[in-house]
Amino acid sequence: MYINGEWVQALSGETREIINPYNQEVVATAAEGNEKDAQAAIQAARTAFDEGDWRTLPANERGELVYQIGTLIRRDLEELAELETWDTGKTVEESRADMSDIANVFLYFGGLADKDGGEVIESPIPNSESKVVREPVGVCGQITPWNYPLLQAAWKIAPALAAGNTIIMKPSEITPLTTVKVFELIEEAGVPKGVANLVLGPGKSAGAELSTNTDVDLISFTGGIETGKSIMQSASHNVKKIALELGGKNPNVVFADADFETAVDQALNAVFFHAGQVCSAGARLLVEESIHDQFVEALVERAKRIKLGNGFDKDTQSGPLISAEHRAKVEKYVEIGKEEGATLAVGGQRPEAAELQNGFFYLPTIFTNCTSDMRIVQEEVFGPVLTVETFTSKEEAVQFANDTIYGLAGAVWTQDLDKAEFVASRLRLGTVWINDFHPYFAQAPWGGYKQSGIGRELGREGMDEYTEVKHIYRNKQPEPVQWFK
Ligand code: NAD
Repeated sequence: MYINGEWVQALSGETREIINPYNQEVVATAAEGNEKDAQAAIQAARTAFDEGDWRTLPANERGELVYQIGTLIRRDLEELAELETWDTGKTVEESRADMSDIANVFLYFGGLADKDGGEVIESPIPNSESKVVREPVGVCGQITPWNYPLLQAAWKIAPALAAGNTIIMKPSEITPLTTVKVFELIEEAGVPKGVANLVLGPGKSAGAELSTNTDVDLISFTGGIETGKSIMQSASHNVKKIALELGGKNPNVVFADADFETAVDQALNAVFFHAGQVCSAGARLLVEESIHDQFVEALVERAKRIKLGNGFDKDTQSGPLISAEHRAKVEKYVEIGKEEGATLAVGGQRPEAAELQNGFFYLPTIFTNCTSDMRIVQEEVFGPVLTVETFTSKEEAVQFANDTIYGLAGAVWTQDLDKAEFVASRLRLGTVWINDFHPYFAQAPWGGYKQSGIGRELGREGMDEYTEVKHIYRNKQPEPVQWFK
């Protein structure tokens, strides 16, 4: 762990073995912190914020340091990509793409650091002037999940530092490797001690301390909806600012006039990329009734060909699930789907290949004859499981797609741009893709409507989350008001 500029073990001396989900081999041993370690990190961040000069450093200088972290990530991209694949089992090609996006996040927020110089506003009061400025929130607790370990961390670390906050990052206890490495780069870049702190350990101790401790001003969390709710509750102790990036059950709406081959290809990518362990996975396919049969036939045929394997092998298209526990959750949902009467079109079991038996693999799975009242359609499975429903009009497509507690992302496929606009403007989602699935980048905001979260990451909005807005009013000719004569 990295606390107050020092690399330390857990105060208790406890450690945790980090497992490669491809073969269950131990790839590293990490410190296993708890609330005591989190308290030490919070204290360091508090002191650095209150007494250090990080928040008053000229914004361009802070920005340069954040930008420098991005260039160091580019320098060490291959090492970081390999660590991410050891930790998550995803293909190393995917990990490289993640690392490149992560470097861009630091470059973007580094560049943004000095772009908001505040705003002078027209005061309605004579002989006065008003300006509105943004200032850092203070000490920020940041908690991330295991599916995109470093990507989710980057979305939080880069804007928080660029805006002048001090931070305590706690990555998922099962995938800490790349976050540890990036803290080495944060140190190398010269970020002052106490400004950026890293605590490792379980959510219920190290994580919970960040959301309950009253010395923390803001808690930013990415993870499951139930954890998000409990963090909201504990953040209420001192009315912390909260930013939540929770789950999704993301609709992928395909009209009959869409480019068939592209829509099939991208529907597979939407749901089976990273074994479906993607918050914005297109796990809920809504296909126009007239093309349903041929669309499903093409999907099933291609889903059968997806090559599962070691993320380091060139021909592997998808890695394993993250853990035995998570695979058991996916299996439970497949049973629920069967019990609810959905038709299992392909998959629905573990692969039989001998070389995959030590990993947490699960076959790409497609359910047809699904309806929006089914749990398999409503709840986030977070695995390689696609549900297929049909619709007969654009109004019905919108109605079905919005019929969930989530509102993270989704797509619409059609060659009719009026129809695309009709659907896009009515979907209650933080991101809508037209004739594409998955693109995101540092310049555009990311986040959810409804129970998919609160606030936004990335883009200017992602930086604004880490600022307080202050109005400074100056009376240029003070004189008695004579209210109380
Ligand atoms: P999780 O909620 O179990 O854990 C996420 C993090 O929270 C981990 O670091 C964990 O240690 C910590 N945690 C657990 N209990 C805690 C508590 N009581 N207090 C404080 N911290 C606690 O989620 P997960 O299984 O790691 O990740 C999968 C979930 O993340 C999915 O639901 C997925 O949709 C979501 N996710 C969302 C986005 C997004 O951008 N919206 C991105 C990635 C993942």
